[in-house]
Amino acid sequence: MDKLKFDSLTVKEWEHILTTEPHILPIYATSSFEFDDTQQSIEIFGGAKSGHTYSRYGNPTLEAVASKIALLESYDHGGSATGVLTNSGMSAIHITLFSLLKPGDTLITQPDIYGGTTEMIHQMVSQQGIQVVLDNCDDADRLEELFRKHSSARVLYLETPTNPALSCVDIKMATSVAHSYGAKVVVDNTFATPYLQQPLSLGADIVIHSTTKYLNGHGNSLGGVIISNDTELMKNSIWNTMKLTGANASPFDAFLTYQGLKTLALRMERHCKNANQIAHELEKNKHILKVNYPGLQSHNSHSIAKKQMRDFGGMMSIEIKGGLEKAIRFMDSLHLCKRVPTLGDVDTLVLHPASSSHVKVPKEIRIASGISDGLVRISVGIENGEDILNDILQALEA
Ligand SMILES: *Cc1c(COP(=O)(O)O)cnc(C)c1O
Repeated sequence: MDKLKFDSLTVKEWEHILTTEPHILPIYATSSFEFDDTQQSIEIFGGAKSGHTYSRYGNPTLEAVASKIALLESYDHGGSATGVLTNSGMSAIHITLFSLLKPGDTLITQPDIYGGTTEMIHQMVSQQGIQVVLDNCDDADRLEELFRKHSSARVLYLETPTNPALSCVDIKMATSVAHSYGAKVVVDNTFATPYLQQPLSLGADIVIHSTTKYLNGHGNSLGGVIISNDTELMKNSIWNTMKLTGANASPFDAFLTYQGLKTLALRMERHCKNANQIAHELEKNKHILKVNYPGLQSHNSHSIAKKQMRDFGGMMSIEIKGGLEKAIRFMDSLHLCKRVPTLGDVDTLVLHPASSSHVKVPKEIRIASGISDGLVRISVGIENGEDILNDILQALEA
């Protein structure tokens, strides 16, 4: 080729100059991939060979992060799962439900799952001619009855522990009932993370996460992931829906999640240790009516949590005596703990469900699922546990 003119040189792409591999996963900020020749393009697009073409279909940064999370989620199950990253937890849930359900089918789920998921089910899933059944799924007889009554039930969608009451469902029990009626089981494992609980090894078909929370852990990116041992389902249905809805994650956000994943085990250990200590202390406090934490003997799901989780997690909620006014005064008196509507970050975050995440839920329904005006959710961070406890205690006295 002749010597390029100056302006052509400015446009020209780089020559491949790598001699050794980068130690840290690079951010492949590229929309597409270059073919050596047309034959290569024909083979890859035709499916005869695998290869990257366009980043909505696949990108090395995204795939590296998805396979790491899939390995962690299937750790107790031979590491056989595959994963697809999405641009948020909500898109992971959307893709999963719309891949598994068709008009005429029934979806069975709990009334107290993540608020966004409940809204999606009411506003989008039921619009598609899919029947939605909300009931407590933590009792084998009750669940059996639900499946008997709804023969078109194709999906059982679970969250355990739940937000913000931290109730748990026995995944093994629920899965065996659902499978005996031919339904697939999806578990949102955002609160527990694979460090504490691996639903695939308890029989679940699909696990989803909002990676925005504990998997990232540092609150600097939104993201989601869908994981399953069923490679056919992942490739033909889940990946295809992700590709066609354009819900792929961004390589930069995936990279941030990847950095967080490296300390997941360390962070979860500290989250659990701090939360356990704080829950036990707060249970004795005179300003508090009730502490919801699965690690407490007094919690209604303690035995289920003990059976299926390695430890009890970093999430809790406390019911403050004096209702709304006292709860708000408590929140506003905190110094170290921050008022932030997310969870799973390294620092301690508080939220008032009745006036934020559950503000649109009718009061009777909200109260029935244990969300009183005095309830405050705490995402216990990895600071020194004593500092967190002291901040909470001084705010309770305020
Ligand atoms: C945050 C959250 C979601 C939604 O995830 P986004 O990343 O915000 O879209 C879903 N499920 C649970 C349990 C969550 O906490």
